[in-house]
Amino acid sequence: MSIVVVGSLNMDLVVTVPRFPVAGETLLGGDYARHAGGKGANQAVAAARAGGDVAMLGRVGADAFGEALVDGLATDGVATEAVAALSDVPTGVAFISIDPSAQNTIIVAPGANARLAPDDLDAARFAGAHVVLLQLEVPLETTLRAAELGCAAGARVVLNLAPARPLTAAQLAHVDLLLVNETEAAALTGIAADEVARAPERAAAALTDLVPAAVLTLGAAGAAWAEAGAAERGGDVARGNAAGAGGGVATGLVPGFPVEAADTTAAGDAFAGALAVRLAHGAPLAEAVRHANAAGALAATRPGAQPSLPTAAELAAFLERRAPHHEEPSG
Ligand code: ADP
Repeated sequence: MSIVVVGSLNMDLVVTVPRFPVAGETLLGGDYARHAGGKGANQAVAAARAGGDVAMLGRVGADAFGEALVDGLATDGVATEAVAALSDVPTGVAFISIDPSAQNTIIVAPGANARLAPDDLDAARFAGAHVVLLQLEVPLETTLRAAELGCAAGARVVLNLAPARPLTAAQLAHVDLLLVNETEAAALTGIAADEVARAPERAAAALTDLVPAAVLTLGAAGAAWAEAGAAERGGDVARGNAAGAGGGVATGLVPGFPVEAADTTAAGDAFAGALAVRLAHGAPLAEAVRHANAAGALAATRPGAQPSLPTAAELAAFLERRAPHHEEPSG
C-alpha cells in the first residue's frame, strides 16, 4: 500500500555536555555522534519498516550529509527519486546537546528543507497514493500544497502537527486526519494542556471541528481518537469529508502497551509511520491506533531515533505477545 511522505531530512549531530553553556562560554563536551533524523525521514523509515511501500519527497544539500541521508532511506526501502540535492544550500542539521540528566537543547538549521517549494511538488508523484503523510518541518505552503495534491489523488491526508503551530480550518481543508501530541492539541484547540490530559477524548473530538478525524498521542497512556461521521464511512480508506455531515463524532481511547521505556525519542514518529501503514490498508481508526501504539511502545524501549523504529515482523510478534488471549506473566 503506497504512502507518500513530504517532509524534512536532517542530520542530527549529538554531543553530551556536563551542563549547558551560558552565553559567551566555551565548554568541552563528549564525543559527538551523527544520526539520520528529521521528522519526515523518520516517519518515512517508520512506515517502510512497518511494511509500507513508501516514497519520500524532500530536499537535501549536495554534500556528504545529504548523500548519507538519502542512502539511509534507500537502505530502508524508501523510494528517494523525489529527494533532490541542491548545490547552493547545506543539508538540514539539528545540533543537539544532552546533559547528564538527559535534558536536551536542540538547534535546527533547516538548510535545504526550507527550500522545498510548493512548485517542486509534482502531482504525478501522488498518483495511486493511499496515504500522504505530512509534518511541519518544511515550509507551511508546501505542506498545504501536498495536502491538496494528496486529496486530489484520492489519498487519505494525515498531518502530524509537529512542531506545533496553530492552523485554521481553511488551511486544513485538505487534511483528513490530524495527528497531535498533548502539547500540539493544546496549541491547536486552545484547550489548556492539563484539560487535554484529563479529557483526551474530548480534546480529540474538538479537533474534528477542524478536520474529519484526529488522533491524540498520550505517551505511555496510549492515544485517543475521534472521527466525525464515522458510522457512514466505516473502515473505508476512501477520502471522507463527513465532518459536519450530521453523523456525530465517534471517539475512543486506546491504552498504551506497558513497556520498560528507555528512550522515547522517535516514539511519535514510529506511531505516525505505523498509523499510516494501517490506514493505507483500510483499517478502522481504532485498530490503526492499536498498531501505532505498539510501534511507539517498541521505539520507546530502544535508544535513538531511526535505529529504534520497529519492523513489521517485530510489530507482529509484539502484538501477538500482547494480544488479550496471550497475557504475559507480570514482572
Ligand atoms: P511525542 O513524542 O510526539 O510527544 P508521545 O510521547 O505521545 O509522542 O508518544 C507517541 C506514542 O508512542 C504514544 O501514543 C504511545 O503509543 C507510544 N509511547 C510513548 N512513550 C511510551 C511509553 N513510555 N510506554 C509505552 N508507549 C509509549
